[in-house]
Amino acid sequence: MKAVAVFPGTRELKIIEQEEPQITRLMEVKLRILEVGICGTDKEICSFEYGTPPDGSDYLIIGHESLGEVVEVGTGVESLKTGDLVVTMVRRPCPHERCLPCRTGHQDFCITGDYTERGIKGRHGFMAEYVVDDAQYMALVPRELRETAVLVEPMTIAAKALFQSDKILRRFPWYDPESFRRQSERTFHALVLGAGAVGLLGMVALRSLGFDTYVYDRAQAPNLKSQLVESIGAHYVSEQGIKDFAHLVGDVELVYEATGASQLAFRAMQVLAPNSIFIFTGVPALGATSHVDTDAIMRNAVLKNQVIFGTVNAGKEGFEAAIRELTVAAQRWPGAAQSLITGRYPLDAYRTLLLGDPGGIKNVLSFDPMRVPAAGASRTHTSA
Ligand code: BGC
Repeated sequence: MKAVAVFPGTRELKIIEQEEPQITRLMEVKLRILEVGICGTDKEICSFEYGTPPDGSDYLIIGHESLGEVVEVGTGVESLKTGDLVVTMVRRPCPHERCLPCRTGHQDFCITGDYTERGIKGRHGFMAEYVVDDAQYMALVPRELRETAVLVEPMTIAAKALFQSDKILRRFPWYDPESFRRQSERTFHALVLGAGAVGLLGMVALRSLGFDTYVYDRAQAPNLKSQLVESIGAHYVSEQGIKDFAHLVGDVELVYEATGASQLAFRAMQVLAPNSIFIFTGVPALGATSHVDTDAIMRNAVLKNQVIFGTVNAGKEGFEAAIRELTVAAQRWPGAAQSLITGRYPLDAYRTLLLGDPGGIKNVLSFDPMRVPAAGASRTHTSA
């Protein structure tokens, strides 16, 4: 079978041929991969800034945002059957007894750092024609989500972040989770920093929860992203169009950072509102230093009861919640999540997608011959 792999030793990215993986354990499931989404992490791995091959291998098969179809199940698997659509989880537990999070199935909270991640750290990923994995790491996706299920993995970022935020909001005696959806349009405002795929999926999740949501991005409106933002009743604010960043940030109870740009994040942190929550989801490259008023940040955090936290996706419940989010979004705003997928490309476009700048919001590599033209062609559609 074909797979896309990086060779850090020789700094190469290429298509490799290898044996199809086979089921060797009772609980394993074999998938035909249909689609793999591409994100900033993949690009960093392909420029050798990130990523680690499995022990003993000189290459890493990349890809962690996947959608697959079950082609075979081990004799012990009851939860899945041939033909089912599944999204496979990325992170796997560390081996250490003392790591309570990993020992209890919450490897996204691993304390040792010795977890592995498919397609990223110590385990081959999903940019391959076939994949075998344990059923416990697979989330079943309803057929109706065929077009958007490749967004489940990036949606887990928002799903987990908002699940954590809900726990934080519960510290307020006046916060009533039951009536939150009804009240939130009036009382709760959110700001998303960055209108990339992670930011826009965060916006979709915040809107479904009922937050009055603002999205802040560099690009001037109108554009594809601002149209999507407005189509689901959120507000788009461009850097060029902004008069008062402090006012924008200071008027919201929840900031969802999705740029990975630390300078913007810390600029926002200096003007956060009382009782607000600030969530980091971006992973910046290391090395930037800048002047920040640390006194203001610390003083505000104390005097204004602010909570600042980082979050990395996601355990099983995160995947299940993400599937629910996309299902709700499809009913409420038909076509909106789908419009994030701005291109489906065949395998031979991998270099352009991973090393170039093909534009769009979320680009997807498709292994499904029904979805893309044969080799040599480029993307099949651009939904706006
Ligand atoms: C992936 C996560 C992973 C993180 C850090 C993200 O792109 O979605 O699963 O934990 O990178 O490696």
